[in-house]
Amino acid sequence: MTMHLKLGWLYPTLMGTYGDRGNVICLEKRAQWRQITVEVIPLDKEAPLNVWEEVDLIVGGGAQDRQQEIVMRDLQGAKAEQLKALIEDQVPGVFTCGSPQLLGKYYEPALGQRIEGLGILDLVSKHPGFGAKRCIGNVAFEITAEPLATELKAKLGDRPIAIGFENHGGRTYLGEVQPLGKVLKGYGNNGEDGWEGAFYQKAIATYAHGPLLPKNPFLADWLLEKALERKYNTEIHLDPLDDQLARQARQTMFQRLTLSVSSSPI
Ligand code: GLN
Repeated sequence: MTMHLKLGWLYPTLMGTYGDRGNVICLEKRAQWRQITVEVIPLDKEAPLNVWEEVDLIVGGGAQDRQQEIVMRDLQGAKAEQLKALIEDQVPGVFTCGSPQLLGKYYEPALGQRIEGLGILDLVSKHPGFGAKRCIGNVAFEITAEPLATELKAKLGDRPIAIGFENHGGRTYLGEVQPLGKVLKGYGNNGEDGWEGAFYQKAIATYAHGPLLPKNPFLADWLLEKALERKYNTEIHLDPLDDQLARQARQTMFQRLTLSVSSSPI
């Protein structure tokens, strides 16, 4: 049986400033290399509600404050309720930077009014002001959120360490929601509390661009397996791929960031 996935991509033109389309490409290719077909569907102003209802997997990228404000003008009412329903119904997703800010309670941008969020994630984000230093640079963090961390450790046989690149002015503060992980290098959510991202149901929220998934293929495979398990109601273990290039790139980053970690399998 050929398996098929509908990948919903949140506002690709507005929330594509920081190269997170690479997450879409990574998921698409890693599925296709296993003979799983993927349909990439823009979830944006033009997408009718029934399209939102049918997705099996969601990707949300980053954006500048202005674009986030435009997105939130559209992401209201039935669409907002539908996105919340998808996440609550364990549809897996990866949401980067500006996206998790909008999934939270609110985002106070550098200029202008507070942007009310969807309240799906119990977090708030605040930009300290136009002239404030941005959180920019390579980031590394150990995934600690459960059950994700335990599942990844079982697969990797090692600590699940993710690497990426962050570029955000907003600082995020968590309420009653799990952090995605513990910062090893870089700023993370706010450069103060040592946490990076958030994890809720099967939604991975992170400040790590890069893009995240090609740099951490084990996360891409986790998302694909969870989406397939939910859709086909059966346990899925994807065949491993030849990730030698990704492994070499990660080792280089571990050395560059002077991270004393074992040669993580991937
Ligand atoms: N505009 C938001 C901020 O500066 C999000 C940036 C991003 O998505 N990289 O925090």
